[in-house]
Amino acid sequence: MVLCMRQRCMKIKSICKANFEENVTNKGKRFDRTLNLSMRCSRKDDWTTITSSNVHEIDKKTNCIPLHDARVLYAVAPAMGHNKESHPESNLRVPAIVSALERLELTPKYRGSEVFEVQFLPCSVDDVALVHARDYITGLDKAMSKASDEGLIFIEGSGPTYATGTTFQESLTAAGAGLSLVDKVVAASRTRSNPPIGFALIRPPGHHAVPEGPMGFCVFGNIAVAARYAQHVHGLRRVLIIDFDVHHGNGTCDAFYDDPDIFFLSTHQIGSYPGTGKIEQVGQGNGEGTTLNLPLPGGSGDLAMRYVFDEVIAPSAQRFKPDIILVSAGYDAHMLDPLAGLQFTTATYYMLASSIKQLAVELCGGRCVFFLEGGYNLQSLSNSVADTFCAFLEEPSLASQFDDPAVLYEEPISKVKQAVQKVKQIHSL
Ligand SMILES: [Zn+2]
Repeated sequence: MVLCMRQRCMKIKSICKANFEENVTNKGKRFDRTLNLSMRCSRKDDWTTITSSNVHEIDKKTNCIPLHDARVLYAVAPAMGHNKESHPESNLRVPAIVSALERLELTPKYRGSEVFEVQFLPCSVDDVALVHARDYITGLDKAMSKASDEGLIFIEGSGPTYATGTTFQESLTAAGAGLSLVDKVVAASRTRSNPPIGFALIRPPGHHAVPEGPMGFCVFGNIAVAARYAQHVHGLRRVLIIDFDVHHGNGTCDAFYDDPDIFFLSTHQIGSYPGTGKIEQVGQGNGEGTTLNLPLPGGSGDLAMRYVFDEVIAPSAQRFKPDIILVSAGYDAHMLDPLAGLQFTTATYYMLASSIKQLAVELCGGRCVFFLEGGYNLQSLSNSVADTFCAFLEEPSLASQFDDPAVLYEEPISKVKQAVQKVKQIHSL
């Protein structure tokens, strides 16, 4: 797969040679990593010989994105080799999402250049080392031969994190997808006030992986690596990370706990794995105040999350004034998810996607990338991601097709309000 991508990259380089050389000179060799040719090929001249009927086919071959048209960019990294029988974090997850996008006519095949699938290369070890200890990265790489021999091993760290012979490479690929989307969204934001929003449909997920090792199904902190990359490569100093996975994003939290330039905001179910993310955990040192943890009582759902968005997420973002918003999009807070006990619905995820997109337009030139984290009921996961795409496209929600109000029970709204008042007091919101 990598070889194939490299061959394609060479082909693209020859097509866009002049712009490529200019870009490499300007941006440094880090850009060799991706098929990041959107900027290189975005000059109007490059499109003058392309007719409207063949534009998308040419896009696929060259990865030259007509950034003036694209509204959603997505990257697919299903990690088919990283799999354990009967494990909830399985290699069926990303294909289920892609199938739903196809079925609901949300892919490039149906949307032309409005929705674009980005091709990309794995990230480098140096990129991962922006967040993770080198000992961990090299140790995992070395463990791959043992994993190949034995089929499956458990890697050192906390929590049940397995590895197969392809885990290292597929984890670099997952993180690389996120970096490539950051590249492209940032490039588009230079010429448009409402650039496309990105969604990395990737696994293994990342938000539990701590700087020193893997944890809780997560290998590399995809979103944390992207946050550092946005700072180092694109000069975007202030990064807001919103994590609405049902579990606390402890790895991301740890990575930036003393960093005043990265605001980490997590909503999660009280008492769920891994038990961190107490409301009193607000960051330390220079980073005191730029970590916000809001544990929600079991049963919290759509009403709770709308209230939390208006009372906590929006005012925190407005006060922080980010240069980019990254989102740990976990779909395991859904009513039907087997691993937790919140009551989000498809409509909740539509609301979150739509509201976060508006925040990004209002606060940071529309720069926003979503990263897939959890979500283990394939049906609710795939339908909710599809409805997230609808929100990005500013089209009506499809939630009424999927949500069954009969399965919901009364939300613990008074407890939610108490928690919100407490977090507002702690953070002076
Ligand atoms: Zn989760």
